[in-house]
Amino acid sequence: MTFASLGLIDPLLRTLEALDYRTPTPVQSKAIPLLLKGRDILASAQTGSGKTAAFVLPLLQRLLQEGPSVASNSLRALVLVPTRELAEQVHDSVRSYGQHLPLRSYAVYGGVSINPQMMALRKGVDVLVATPGRLLDLYRQNAVKFAQLQILVLDEADRMLDLGFARELDELFCALPKKRQTLLFSATFSDPIRQMAGELLRDPASVEVSPRNTAAKSVRQWLIPVDKKRKSELLLELIGSRGWDNLLVFAKTRKGVEQLVTELQLAGLAADSIHGDKPQPARLRALQRFKDGEVGILVATDVAARGLDIDDLPRVVNLDLPIVAEDYVHRIGRTGRAGSTGEAVSLVCADEVDQLAAIETLIGQVIERRDEPGFIPDHRVPQTAPGGQVLKKPKKPKPAKAVPGKSKVHLGSWFEEGEKPKVRAVRQMPRLGDGPGPKKKR
Ligand code: AMP
Repeated sequence: MTFASLGLIDPLLRTLEALDYRTPTPVQSKAIPLLLKGRDILASAQTGSGKTAAFVLPLLQRLLQEGPSVASNSLRALVLVPTRELAEQVHDSVRSYGQHLPLRSYAVYGGVSINPQMMALRKGVDVLVATPGRLLDLYRQNAVKFAQLQILVLDEADRMLDLGFARELDELFCALPKKRQTLLFSATFSDPIRQMAGELLRDPASVEVSPRNTAAKSVRQWLIPVDKKRKSELLLELIGSRGWDNLLVFAKTRKGVEQLVTELQLAGLAADSIHGDKPQPARLRALQRFKDGEVGILVATDVAARGLDIDDLPRVVNLDLPIVAEDYVHRIGRTGRAGSTGEAVSLVCADEVDQLAAIETLIGQVIERRDEPGFIPDHRVPQTAPGGQVLKKPKKPKPAKAVPGKSKVHLGSWFEEGEKPKVRAVRQMPRLGDGPGPKKKR
């Protein structure tokens, strides 16, 4: 199959040729013809499957072929994304795929000044990529008008709900024109997402190119059981002994991220971080430094788990397992993208066994364990089994508790009458006036 056979126009085909995209990925072959026909779609595609091009290419083509030119403060296509990084990344794709088209695009997100965004929107834009919170701010300040909106894309919709954008989204949906094309993309499908799809989409075509909630097959997954307090020591050991470089590491908390970065830097390694406490420019700078190879290790919270596209990332390490099992799929989806293979290594301590079981249920496989000599944990990580079971060790029977005030052992039915063992006094107490006391043991 070729991109031309999907119905894309020449300027887009030329761009794809220049980008060396030779054949459409499965999500592209399925979604592009439907979208060009104006259908709504509900799409589930793995991270790294080429889903951005699957919606951006037909979106650009439809904007070019249909509708009036854009009025001031207006927009014709809106792509909603959950994070600032993803907004930048999707906007980069829009710019790249639309480089030969006379269409304007822009990205808005929080954490940076709103004024330049208000100025930029004055002329109107054909494609706006936005995070929900900032878009709502702009809408309330009359900096954006939705009357011309033709196409709405919800990218990583499940993540938007996980991040608590439900209220903002509801308010935005009420403000959008009812007549429009709507595309809903989500790597994982929960019931709230299906409900949202039911409310927003008109007779949607379903595009599902991979089984639900599975991790990319191109990612080799394994874990090392380790005690919690030795995780960063183990990571340093792995980096040193295996020559790991170009590494994306996920930690649970912002504090944990910063602590690890400090330890890595003290060990002489170039590391940077991305988490929610960092101002947006610093986050983007850290990502760029990592992409450019200036730092070999990027440590992040789940802010970075979804949507980031980093070329040739060979390995993702989970210093901590994520609380939400779906985030595991997104984290490891940062590697093994666009046809290359990758590796996802998790350092798992005993406390995390329930999270591990939930992840294994979600991905439908038990993750291979590899012990690391010198790091065998004191606190054993219980074995897990298919179906998310945690196999607990049988408990040892507790010794019978002595009941205060009842020093006699009741032998109950353990012994037949007559079989009762003879209870001998361990030592005889000297009676007053008797000769020397009991012999002492030598
Ligand atoms: P995405 O899943 O949209 O984040 O895309 C993952 C990566 O695949 C990006 O680096 C794209 O540039 C690349 N890509 C998307 N479609 C194709 C294609 N048909 N051929 C080669 N690379 C592609």
